[in-house]
Amino acid sequence: MVTMTAAGAPTPDLILRGCTLEGRSAPADVAIRDGVITGVGARIDADGRAELDAGGRLVTAAFVQPHIHLDKVGTLPLLGSNRSGTLAEAIDILHRIKRSASAGDVAARAGVVIRQAVLSGTTRIRTHVDVDTIGGLTPLRGVLQAAREHADLCDIQIVAFPQEGIIRDPGSAGLLAAAMGEGAGVVGGMPHWETSEQDSRDHIAICMDLAARFGADVDMHVDETDDPRSRTLAMLIDATLAHGWQGRVTAGHCCAMAAWEESYTAEVIGRAAAARLAFVTNPATNLLLQGRLDQEPRRRGLPPVKELLAAGLTVGCGQDCVQDGFYPFGAADQLQVALILCHAAQLSAPPEIDAALRAIGTAAARLMGVSGYGLEPGCAADLIVLDAGTMHEALRLQAPRRWVIRRGAVVAQTQTASTLAPAGHQERS
Ligand SMILES: [Zn+2]
Repeated sequence: MVTMTAAGAPTPDLILRGCTLEGRSAPADVAIRDGVITGVGARIDADGRAELDAGGRLVTAAFVQPHIHLDKVGTLPLLGSNRSGTLAEAIDILHRIKRSASAGDVAARAGVVIRQAVLSGTTRIRTHVDVDTIGGLTPLRGVLQAAREHADLCDIQIVAFPQEGIIRDPGSAGLLAAAMGEGAGVVGGMPHWETSEQDSRDHIAICMDLAARFGADVDMHVDETDDPRSRTLAMLIDATLAHGWQGRVTAGHCCAMAAWEESYTAEVIGRAAAARLAFVTNPATNLLLQGRLDQEPRRRGLPPVKELLAAGLTVGCGQDCVQDGFYPFGAADQLQVALILCHAAQLSAPPEIDAALRAIGTAAARLMGVSGYGLEPGCAADLIVLDAGTMHEALRLQAPRRWVIRRGAVVAQTQTASTLAPAGHQERS
């Protein structure tokens, strides 16, 4: 039975009272019904089935994670047997883990990080998952299992990712097609990992054909290296235009851009804009990994974020890794990632900080093809109530996520109470 308010509208399932909303000078209420925002106003004159007093806290759309590897998260403790400490042995151990892990093992590790992400306000995740002849489809099945187990908390998009290459890993092309048939929704790629320029082009062609066959978007790992000769981004742009896939292709990492000649970078950015390419930078992992062999000055291994933004390109920002063989940190907290982005890309003017926040919000949602993202009536009611008054303050202080709401249901809450002891100055005496 649908009950009605006095004004004749269906009763909201939930009303958030006393919310601070960016762009509004006075507190507002947000009404939600059937998982969708139905009203935003100074005072919603109705009783909801449930009400939540935001107490003047900031309410914003939930964060979006556009790039993580849920099949690899939490593998770091398993890598402890690296006796030589070399990258070669680390990769060997990674392959052994990939070969031997069951779908249940992958699902368990991924689940820990999905729950962390939700606790910190992320309700939409795009994850790359290895598809190759080492692990076959087991990592995919593990992440699909984790996605099913957390379907009430989070939306998860899966990118079929040929981590070991396609031309240099015979059999992986067929596995990629099988992965798309089994639940992956986006075609991945890593063309710079091939051993020749022609193989990189063939790699991209295989991926684009697969995308056309499944009507899928494309999200590739591009030039994740310090080598200035790595130029597969231009190949991806060519293929995007040739296939008419403008607006449906994302380039992740793009570290070699930090090593390119300025004039070449400018030319490629212009072509990327024509192809409406989206970018995802992963500053946490790449700050740690890139430029290791440089003398000072040391390259940061990031694409030129300010130039991409100035060209009107969509720029998202991802976590990439959590506690794996590449990166020992990571909390799956997009507010932390955005703060790292500000430092890495030197985003400090207020409009630049806004861009960093869009990189974990509207920009990330756009490149993932998420519809109904935002705080307007008609948008999905995926929201965060933050212990802050503005987003800049939330970013600076890494404000607690007091409540996380997904499709109108409270899915996480955080309570913190830090106080100075009354005799807090005693240690000085
Ligand atoms: Zn990645």
